[in-house]
Amino acid sequence: MSQVAEETRSQIVDLVRDFVRRDVDPVAAQYDHDDVYPAELVETMRQMGLFGITIPEEYGGLGLDHVTLAIIFEELSKGWMSVCGPIGTHLLMASVITEHGTEEQKRRILPGMASGEIKGGLGLTEPEAGSDVQGIRTTAVRDGEEYVINGRKMFITNAENGNAYAVLAKTDVDADPPYRGMSCFIVQKPNPGLSVGQHIDKLGYRGVDTGELIFDGCRVGEEDLIGGIEGRGFHQVMSGLESGRINVAARAVGVATAAFEAAISYSQRRKAFGVPIAEHQAIQLLLAEMGTKIEAARLLTMSAAEKRDAGERVDLAAGMAKLYASEICGEVAMDAMRIHGGAGYTKDLSIERFYRDAPLMIIGEGTNEMQKLVIARRLLERYRE
Ligand SMILES: Cc1cc2nc3c(=O)[nH]c(=O)nc-3n(C[C@H](O)[C@H](O)[C@H](O)COP(=O)(O)OP(=O)(O)OC[C@H]3O[C@@H](n4cnc5c(N)ncnc54)[C@H](O)[C@@H]3O)c2cc1C
Repeated sequence: MSQVAEETRSQIVDLVRDFVRRDVDPVAAQYDHDDVYPAELVETMRQMGLFGITIPEEYGGLGLDHVTLAIIFEELSKGWMSVCGPIGTHLLMASVITEHGTEEQKRRILPGMASGEIKGGLGLTEPEAGSDVQGIRTTAVRDGEEYVINGRKMFITNAENGNAYAVLAKTDVDADPPYRGMSCFIVQKPNPGLSVGQHIDKLGYRGVDTGELIFDGCRVGEEDLIGGIEGRGFHQVMSGLESGRINVAARAVGVATAAFEAAISYSQRRKAFGVPIAEHQAIQLLLAEMGTKIEAARLLTMSAAEKRDAGERVDLAAGMAKLYASEICGEVAMDAMRIHGGAGYTKDLSIERFYRDAPLMIIGEGTNEMQKLVIARRLLERYRE
């Protein structure tokens, strides 16, 4: 990494830390409890340039690497994991266009995404198909110079507050295997054929809008077919999800770190049987395990980010990072609650929020069961007898 890039990285990371301390920490609990979209925080992040973190400079972004992305997502998540939502899914869409879009698409869409005027999202999941991406039913049928999209997308982050989506649809419903008949389209609001359905009420990851997108005769131009060639959509979104897994792993490290730091602080203040509970070995064992797990998760995440920055295929590394970091995040959040005793179970402290936010990282961006299948497949390839 060049010295200029190093300086840009450290400046932006400092900015993000200040933002979290100054703007996010004081309001996170209230936004979370009220389940309110943090519009002001999102606007500040837009002004900080965070909507363009990994978008190349030539298209108006900051052109930063995945290591910086991971550090930023960890820092944001230490404050409130939900603030990662609007930019995480947005950057996934941007990476699909950056890596697979035509030059015209990049020039048309990426500058607006980098400035945050265009707020993006990714539309894969449907009511009947999540893990089984090839089982989607949304279709895009060619009609002259346009495509007509019909179908429903479920659990879409930024469904309400976003205004552009990379949408996966079948352009050839008879293709065998099905992924060969799948294509990805840029769909922007307003579009008379696109409406937002139900708002989904969630356990955690609150404040972020997760909803349904309904495509009913939704017309887009042929210039909106990402890459300009049908049948490449599955591959395009899967490669985008690799960087998504790095950002989810980083979020998990951030939430786990926040829970750990709250617990190690509390353990030195709370007394039981005449001494701070940190002096009881049972608590020390927990702290040791929590700290070690977080360190391992961070190293896996950084290793995946470095590999991605080096241009390597990272489905294995990003899958391992996402799997491990999200699992330990759930464990550490629970252990932080144990250490806090009854206080950890109340809504007065952030511990219960960390505990509610952790499962999103286990389920989102491909469930951990699916991660294990991918990891095992790659390992068997590597160690084939
Ligand atoms: C808050 C939130 C935000 C989201 N944001 C987006 C978004 O922006 N865009 C988007 O497209 N999607 C989004 N998703 C959807 C998310 O990616 C899916 O929920 C996830 O991929 C799982 O799909 P599913 O819910 O349909 O579960 P299913 O696929 O029905 O899985 C149910 C269970 O079966 C297991 N399972 C399924 N198949 C197998 C198998 N072959 N082997 C072993 N186990 C299996 C799964 O691991 C899981 O435990 C979001 C989800 C949430 C909760």
